Amino acid sequence: MTSTPKIWHATVLTLFPEMFPGPLGVSLAGKALASGLWALEARDIRDSATDRHRSVDDTPAGGGPGMVLRADVLAAAIDAADSAPERQKDRPKDRPRLLMSPRGRPLTQSRVAELAAGPGPMIVCGRFEGIDQRAIEARGLEEVSVGDYVLSGGEVAAMALIDACVRLLPGVMGKVASGADESFSHGLLEYPQYTRPQEFEGRPIPEILLSGDHARVAAWRQAEAEALTKARRPDLWAARQAQTRPAQTRPVQTRPGQKRPKNTTEG
Ligand code: SAH
Repeated sequence: MTSTPKIWHATVLTLFPEMFPGPLGVSLAGKALASGLWALEARDIRDSATDRHRSVDDTPAGGGPGMVLRADVLAAAIDAADSAPERQKDRPKDRPRLLMSPRGRPLTQSRVAELAAGPGPMIVCGRFEGIDQRAIEARGLEEVSVGDYVLSGGEVAAMALIDACVRLLPGVMGKVASGADESFSHGLLEYPQYTRPQEFEGRPIPEILLSGDHARVAAWRQAEAEALTKARRPDLWAARQAQTRPAQTRPVQTRPGQKRPKNTTEG
């Protein structure tokens, strides 16, 4: 059996579809969108409202300020997006279903890479105080956060996620497409970048970068990346240390009933 590769497709469920493509329609992502390297569909949650007033929200059960997006309306919007005729033949039903949410797991470059490698997600954008918990559970939504701060809606967060995915799609970044050198790709922040002019307000470009010695440049960049990561993101540095620690510094494995050797240094 042969299957034609489908383009990466993001479906966004929002109360403000007019916000899209917005920033995703310009520069790298916008050019790629225009040339059909990926597709974007923004669907209005309000189209799934059933009453005369097309209401999508109501007051929180138990009291409190603000409004909550109704579970029935949102579930209907998700189902409608899944059963759209073009969806049936084009896109697998098992695509990730995300909910942008400050309670979610913080988005990382590795999750972005996974999402970019898949068929493309459906993304629900919350508004108001958030959405009825039962819609999250009944439709198996994965909550994703873009940081420990609260936005007024999920749209800007969804744009950040889509933008991060799109630049990793084949053909979008041209020759630099690997992204292999970038922040986070090796658990490190990126080294500082410079370009002309050679001197700016009395600040020269570090000499080593003009030396033409690729090995020295690479070593300098690696050292800078490590120093930056240590200073700014001790959490990333610790995680990297735990991953890259050489085997001999790990505790020696012992089988059950076997005594741990007294001297664990290997040579
Ligand atoms: N009362 C909620 C916040 C609601 S903000 C709470 O305290 O958790 C309204 C919507 O904005 C959310 O439903 C979510 O979709 C989006 N949003 C806000 N902050 C976000 C963040 N840091 N990451 C992802 N989405 C966010």
